[in-house]
Amino acid sequence: MDMYKTLNNGVKMPILGLGVYKSGEDTKQAVLDALEAGYRHIDTAALYKNEAQVGEAIRESGIPREEIFITTKLWNDDMKNGTQMEAFERSLKNLGTDYVDLYLLHWPVSQALEQSWKILEQIYKEGRVRAIGVSNCHMSHLMRVMAAATVVPAVNQVECHPYLSQKPLRTFCNNLSIAMEAWSPLGRGRVLNDPVIGQLAQKYNKTPAQIILRWELQENWIVIPKSVHRERIIENSSIFDFELDSADMARMDGLNKDMRFGTDPDHFENKQW
Ligand code: NAD
Repeated sequence: MDMYKTLNNGVKMPILGLGVYKSGEDTKQAVLDALEAGYRHIDTAALYKNEAQVGEAIRESGIPREEIFITTKLWNDDMKNGTQMEAFERSLKNLGTDYVDLYLLHWPVSQALEQSWKILEQIYKEGRVRAIGVSNCHMSHLMRVMAAATVVPAVNQVECHPYLSQKPLRTFCNNLSIAMEAWSPLGRGRVLNDPVIGQLAQKYNKTPAQIILRWELQENWIVIPKSVHRERIIENSSIFDFELDSADMARMDGLNKDMRFGTDPDHFENKQW
């Protein structure tokens, strides 16, 4: 399996990254551990308030900046307030870098969706981000973005795990050459005790987390599991030395319940973050 996915603009994105939502004070060490374990992709956001720690860890690692893929995201308030450009500059400053690999609209803020996408396009055309994309977009949101776009989003980052396989959205995005990236790929840890996943873990001599992540990779998702524990960070990256057969892929597919653990993109506007 290729460790990189080629996005619709030719940029190569590592299919495994480290998520750092709620990693707090542990962020810097987690990123250092991940880079040592071979990760070359970190998923942060202005909301997470740890871009500075991510940047510090990357510099301290000694790995050349261009070998590491950084995603960050434009927060909702900056879309609402019309401060998108200032927010991007702030993220660059916090990260201590002069470009971002992938910049995402964090949520499809209705009142500013098209306008915010246009600003991402402008930043992209200035060469300050290598790719732009969206997050938490249903088909209806994507249709709005596409109607205004001159650049097709490279990525749609959405919740995905064995209980939420997102098949219809995936087909839609595939047809538009938009790569799918799974947030909460482990269902925030709440799907790890599923008995079918347990059986497969025994069969392949792997852990439940590894079975889930491998299933997602074989389904063409980019995955960004979060952990601040070194052993788990390593465990979550040891998924390239086995393959689920088609019958077991079908068993994993059969676990879908269209069940969300996170916020529904149709009902995020009044949420307190
Ligand atoms: P996740 O599915 O990655 O689960 C993380 C949790 O699973 C950990 O806190 C830990 O409790 C457990 N875990 C991790 N590895 C394990 C292992 N090997 N064995 C047992 N338990 C393990 O959940 P997440 O953090 O919500 O999502 C991952 C990343 O996705 C985030 O850190 C963030 O970067 C991104 N994200 C993006 C959005 C968005 O709106 N775009 C929303 C949520 C998360």
